[in-house]
Amino acid sequence: MPLLYALLALLAAFLALITPRALRFVPPPRESAKAEDIPADAERLARHLQAMLRLKTVSYPEEGRAEAAQFAAFRDLLKTLYPLVHARCQAELHGQNGLLYHLRGQVDGPPSVLMAHYDVVPADEGDWAHPPFAGMLVDGEVWGRGALDTKCTVLCLLEALEAQLAAGFVPRNDLYLSLGGDEETLGQDAAAIVDALEARGVRPAFVLDEGGAVVSRVFPGVTRAAALVGIAEKGSALVDLVAQGRPGHASAPPFRQAALTLAQAISRVARRPLHFTLTAPAKALFDTLGRHSTFAYKLIFANLWCFAPLLDLICRRTGGELDALVRTTVAFTRLHASPAYNVLPQQAKAGLNLRLISGDTAQDAVARLQSVLKGLDVQVELVRASQPSPISPASGPAWQRLARAIHATYPQAILSPYLMVAASDSRHFCRISDHVYRFSGFPLTRQQLSLIHSQNERIPVSLLPDGFRFFTRVIGQC
Ligand SMILES: [Zn+2]
Repeated sequence: MPLLYALLALLAAFLALITPRALRFVPPPRESAKAEDIPADAERLARHLQAMLRLKTVSYPEEGRAEAAQFAAFRDLLKTLYPLVHARCQAELHGQNGLLYHLRGQVDGPPSVLMAHYDVVPADEGDWAHPPFAGMLVDGEVWGRGALDTKCTVLCLLEALEAQLAAGFVPRNDLYLSLGGDEETLGQDAAAIVDALEARGVRPAFVLDEGGAVVSRVFPGVTRAAALVGIAEKGSALVDLVAQGRPGHASAPPFRQAALTLAQAISRVARRPLHFTLTAPAKALFDTLGRHSTFAYKLIFANLWCFAPLLDLICRRTGGELDALVRTTVAFTRLHASPAYNVLPQQAKAGLNLRLISGDTAQDAVARLQSVLKGLDVQVELVRASQPSPISPASGPAWQRLARAIHATYPQAILSPYLMVAASDSRHFCRISDHVYRFSGFPLTRQQLSLIHSQNERIPVSLLPDGFRFFTRVIGQC
């Protein structure tokens, strides 16, 4: 009996400790700013997007397969659609298809860079309900590969700048538009643009690229929309697991086979997820959105000092983006062994794509895989890696500039920093700027997000005016 009382007393003390913290875990008051209205011509935006989607600016994994003429035609189209941008900005080509516009400001202060990419991933025509390169307008949606990723951003950036120039706008500081032509194959266009800027001593005070969006129902217990801004992005490591075996006829297989050893290795890696890491962007996300969550989740997010192991478990069980937010993930993407049913392979190989969380290097991750696979005759080989990006601040003038444009355009959305789990061209800009942000400027549903890189990619025309207004507000503050 005394033991039971002691346990109950302990539980009461624990609840007395965590409950007040959860009760105090509420959103900060927000002053509502009245935004000036910006007229937008949805019909024009749709028409111009349709024209952009008709050009097959496809990046292929095979080197040299991209159609240079289509990329050139796209740049010619931009000249036709945006005469003022081309009259007032200096336009340069870097790398294969990297397009850099430079607009001089009134003073020589630190410039801004607004980014997007105009290459797209391939599309298999047969799988689509409407052809991917016809730029069709169907039931209020513009269809085509790149409609969401990221020709809609190219469109709104250039439309906003063209309209601003027509109204006599001159930015305070220099403004650059950086449009990559090989982002989808992790190419070198953006790197070439950064090389050029670095050589000129350009140190941007603000860089904005694709990444987060205004999304709903992505965070446990939060029903309100959230504008998620990537303040860092994960790195990527391509790793091979290689098991050796004895080649020969399949009629008399040995006890140890390369494919079996490899299967054991894969299963061991899958069962031992890499360690839970609370990075600054993830902490900021949990702190911001946790305050809008249900009381049960508030108990957890307000008391991560004791509930981190529980959160680790929730993330593991959920998988997907939530789990990717808190650890280096491992995706098993390639398998290779024998070319024939009746031939024993000499070697079985699995290709892994690790996404590295801030603080982990590719070498750390390889060392951890090696320790997990200790005792198995499997080699871990690092093929290629890009390290995680540095973290940009979620405060200060650059952040505030972005925050103002988001609040004015999407007043209902909760603004929060987060860690982008995919890669963007903006990682190259971390070399020359400490203020690199990833936000696409559009509200996207789960279904729309799932269309990116998939069949039937399309964007509702109704989203384009706000994208235009968002970039108009960003450009207005440059
Ligand atoms: Zn993409």
